[in-house]
Amino acid sequence: MNERDSEAVAAQLVAKGYTLAPSEKNADVILLNTCSVRDFAEKKAIGKMQNLAADVRKNRPEVVLGFLGCMAQSRGRELIDKLPDVDLVLGTQKFHRAAECLDEIITGAREKIVDVAEEENSEATIREHLLNGSAKTSVSAFVSIMQGCNQRCTFCIVPFTRGEERSRTIPDIVAECRELVSRGVKEITLLGQIVTSYGRRGGSGRGTKVESRAPAPLLPSTLDLRPSTIKSPFVQLLDAVHEIDGLERIRFTSPHPKGYGDDLIDAYARLPKLVESAHLPVQSGSDRVLKLMHRGYARKRFLGIIEKLRRAKPDIGITTDIIVGFPGETETDFEETLSLAREVEFDNAYIFKYSQRRDTPAAEMPDQVPQKVREDRNRRLLELVNGIAARKYDAFIGRQVQILVEGPSRKNPARYTGRTRCNRIVLFDGGARHQGRLMDVKITRTGSFTLYGDPAIMNL
Ligand code: SAM
Repeated sequence: MNERDSEAVAAQLVAKGYTLAPSEKNADVILLNTCSVRDFAEKKAIGKMQNLAADVRKNRPEVVLGFLGCMAQSRGRELIDKLPDVDLVLGTQKFHRAAECLDEIITGAREKIVDVAEEENSEATIREHLLNGSAKTSVSAFVSIMQGCNQRCTFCIVPFTRGEERSRTIPDIVAECRELVSRGVKEITLLGQIVTSYGRRGGSGRGTKVESRAPAPLLPSTLDLRPSTIKSPFVQLLDAVHEIDGLERIRFTSPHPKGYGDDLIDAYARLPKLVESAHLPVQSGSDRVLKLMHRGYARKRFLGIIEKLRRAKPDIGITTDIIVGFPGETETDFEETLSLAREVEFDNAYIFKYSQRRDTPAAEMPDQVPQKVREDRNRRLLELVNGIAARKYDAFIGRQVQILVEGPSRKNPARYTGRTRCNRIVLFDGGARHQGRLMDVKITRTGSFTLYGDPAIMNL
């Protein structure tokens, strides 16, 4: 999401006549888009800004320095008090105001700007794209469908930094997707903190074109309201995006397990452009911890969703987020997380050591787990998850898979990189002629979270 927000700010500045600097050493404006999910991310951003102030600003006092995003939102003016070299602090509902704020600072109209206020309709302002920025972005693009989060998980700072859920309308999102496809994009990832809550609460998307039931004429006369006939607003959005000619693949991130209804599972079976890939944050395998986290589902329900997904799409790639060392997590609770990871066999998992965040209920909970224990559990879970993932990667050797070619590999430009439908990276000896193509490759070997392929059949 931060990558997408940064891209929209960069595109907005380019449209105003700015150019992207190859390095911060020769940039006239340096904006750090920040994350607050863990303390480490905040410390890193502050350390980076201190270095910029000491290196860049000392030699070129005219350089404008700014913080954007979540940390800017949660700390506001405090950041300028702490780091007086900072000129601009823009919150999460103000990305679209970056260019006008810079104008005011550069022309001297205002010396410093802090703007972290809420803004109506800001959910519809992340829309500009930089398609010629890197080869990758011209094939695949992120589209922000909503802002904010109402889940109130006890560990999470996001509801405080991103505000209440607000959704864009389906026509607005579809128009942006169409425009991207007309500019060569083949794959779209729909983005939101909790995409499965799309259209359920506030924002311009609410109560307009989004309905919580399938339109009446589609229902049989007996009014069959079994779960699969009820379409959530998110599934209605998937249907609408799926209609776009020229679009080859649809992804989304991230859903909440609670929002994985049968209509969404059906969508995987029904919509060929919806790829076989799901990122389902489970956070813990222990029901006791899930309850303390306020997640709204139990282990059994989560396992039931995985089973249904695999029944609908046996080759689906499933990834997750897990927190270790949540307050009160005992060794027994942690072992339940290990057993869940063994049972599900995730294709990959992002594992986080619990980080105390201010204003969140978990920060005040008793039995905070010592740092050493968090680190030990992190290591044990990582070992297990990586071992399972490596076995699953090896199982691809000899198989033929379809990839969408994104462009030259960053590490070795002689190689090209693409993604399978189940979201695995494939490297192969390719050239510019392959860029943006859907093609079949045969997997010959594996590396760390990478597959190596040989073009087998070209879909020209
Ligand atoms: N949509 C996601 C969900 O369903 O929970 C939330 C996305 S969150 C920004 C990304 C991940 O960061 C979470 O899934 C969680 O694993 C991790 N995270 C959030 N707060 C955390 C904290 N206080 N300490 C450690 N990890 C945290």
